[in-house]
Amino acid sequence: MIWDPYNECMDVEQRARLQVWRLRETVARLKANVPFYRERFRDIDLEPEDIRSLEDLEHLPFTTKDDLRDNYPYGLFAVPLEEVVRVHASSGTTGKPTVVGYTAEDIDLWAECMARSIGCAGGTPHDILQVSYGYGLFTGGLGLHFGGERMGCTVIPMSSGNTERQLMMMRDLGTTILACTPSYALTIADTARDLGISADELKLKSGIFGAEPWSEGSRKAVEEMLGLSAHDIYGLSEVLGPGVSNECEAKNGLHVFDDHFIPEIIDPATGKRLPDGEPGELVFTCITKRCLPLIRYRTRDVSTLTHEICSCGRTHPRMGRIRGRTDDMLIIRGVNVFPSQIEHVLLGIEEAQPHYQLVVRREGRLDVLEVQVEVAGELFSDTVRRLEEVERKIAHALYTALGITVQVKLVEPKTLARSEGKAKRVLDLREGV
Ligand SMILES: [Zn+2]
Repeated sequence: MIWDPYNECMDVEQRARLQVWRLRETVARLKANVPFYRERFRDIDLEPEDIRSLEDLEHLPFTTKDDLRDNYPYGLFAVPLEEVVRVHASSGTTGKPTVVGYTAEDIDLWAECMARSIGCAGGTPHDILQVSYGYGLFTGGLGLHFGGERMGCTVIPMSSGNTERQLMMMRDLGTTILACTPSYALTIADTARDLGISADELKLKSGIFGAEPWSEGSRKAVEEMLGLSAHDIYGLSEVLGPGVSNECEAKNGLHVFDDHFIPEIIDPATGKRLPDGEPGELVFTCITKRCLPLIRYRTRDVSTLTHEICSCGRTHPRMGRIRGRTDDMLIIRGVNVFPSQIEHVLLGIEEAQPHYQLVVRREGRLDVLEVQVEVAGELFSDTVRRLEEVERKIAHALYTALGITVQVKLVEPKTLARSEGKAKRVLDLREGV
């Protein structure tokens, strides 16, 4: 279902004119209301009327997470606090969280974008949506919640955790769409198997999974185990929350709702814009938000963009699934390694379970990457030779994919910590890293 055909299927040139008009209006508003941007624009002699085409966006300054931190908590808000009806916050890597604000109009915009997302995932007003993202300062729970209500779904505000209860509600209430992180979807699927609940006993048809990178392999695993069609959703609180982009039924990239957020891909080292198809850092410019319309916000997420028109009829550009974070990227003996690459390899190996942990340590002068993988319990009652054989098989597959030697350690089922939110996959024990 296309929720908003007028905007989602708009002629590309017509939308470009709308984007330019909205960008100019946003720059004027920031210049008037936010000292940080007023100075940035003055530094480059930028007046709102200088923006005549989308190419002019490239001359605008970037905004970074550090800028948000330096202006903590309200310094970048473009409206007085009395107009702000809600705040959310994401955990910062060092100390203070990143605080974001919404006016009533922003909340309305968010619900619209989320309804578009749910529509992309095949949702309709007839659906029963179980929201198993955490509710609270994190944008996942409330974002999906308001979007589901806007769509007209029956929303079950489960929040995350208590997996057995999640499954009971899912079965008893006839949930048709599950929304949570992909790692939690795997946990739910595992628990269903342990409790002897088959996919046939559930009415699930679709899943909306995001807030952390995941792979095609994870998609297949969750789809098989829960009997649903899994869709990737993307968003971040600095830009909106979930609902910045979503995969449609074509599952060939996520439509970015670019009448609200203009996406770019840049080279993280030079800041230069990259052409369609080339991987780089995702950057967004908010052109309709009232409280926090960030200009060229650097997400640190690695992705690609395409402006080719999709078979579903939507004319929004599509971003590729997130390949990792520019700052999560591990550099092992000079080679760039994204955890998602390792996950992808493991999911292609029959003996490996989709639970793993990466441990990086320094032995002498050498960086060593150890991949701990859960395997089926039966394997441990087998011979030692059989275990070694599986270790070698995994190590070889990883060597082929990454180009570096890794140590593989097989562990028994349920040894590694399970996630109820974002998975923590990497333990970096190197000093000074
Ligand atoms: Zn599409």
